[in-house]
Amino acid sequence: MCADFAPRCLSQSPRCGKVQAMHILVTNDDGIVAPGLQALAAALRELGEVTVLAPERNWSVSGHVKTLHRPLRVHATALADGSPALTTDGAPSDCVAMAFLGVVERSIDMVVSGINPHHNLGHDVTYSGTVTAAMEAAIWRIPGIAVSTEYDAEIGYAPAAELGLQLARQVAARGLPPYTVLNINVPAAPLEQIKGFKITRQGMRVYQDELVRREDPQGEPYFWIGGDPPSGIAENGTDIGVLAENWVSVTPLQLDLTSYSFMEKMREWELEVTRDSG
Ligand code: MN
Repeated sequence: MCADFAPRCLSQSPRCGKVQAMHILVTNDDGIVAPGLQALAAALRELGEVTVLAPERNWSVSGHVKTLHRPLRVHATALADGSPALTTDGAPSDCVAMAFLGVVERSIDMVVSGINPHHNLGHDVTYSGTVTAAMEAAIWRIPGIAVSTEYDAEIGYAPAAELGLQLARQVAARGLPPYTVLNINVPAAPLEQIKGFKITRQGMRVYQDELVRREDPQGEPYFWIGGDPPSGIAENGTDIGVLAENWVSVTPLQLDLTSYSFMEKMREWELEVTRDSG
């Protein structure tokens, strides 16, 4: 693709002599027909060439998946706006892995996932298909961004798409450290009411899960994890805290989940293997 704008100079296109635009993989966890996916893909075309590879169905709250025990199919399709896309029966993180493994021919410079219709905050991040798709990109040493909002029919996805594009531009210009992703949460507010970007840490989600027990027609019990949607503690400097005040939350996450502070304390355990004395 030839383009006059060149957010990141990758290679000279032999055909036109101009620099090639960057190539962005867009995916989501809500499935190929989700309007948030189309809004994100359309916005990111301002920044580069976009390839969409997204799951056929909703994989929300399915975590970081690698499908190894069944084949994966990929089909060409089109989004509601007519733009071409690829879809698969794999998970969001499978989409990213398959793209890097060769399902998508052109090399990928950035992965952007979303726009999820619900925020991904605090402990949500390891449940989230949106965030784990971005984490999969980080495993491949490519910048990954997850974009979520709280969908409101009057506001739509335009503010989250625009702010996701603005962050993606920054990442294109500056890059991200290895094994780092950006988790972006946009308030459910019109663009003019959003105060700006705040760099945040993960806050505390409060899950309100309840076990719902039912019986099937044979009288056998089955269970749902039900209850109210999660709330959270709106602490200063956290994702939950800044969203409550109409800021965009940008949390840099790292794949290294090691608790370095506890590592130090845990040395006091002086762990030793106990062996039976013969
Ligand atoms: Mn979702």
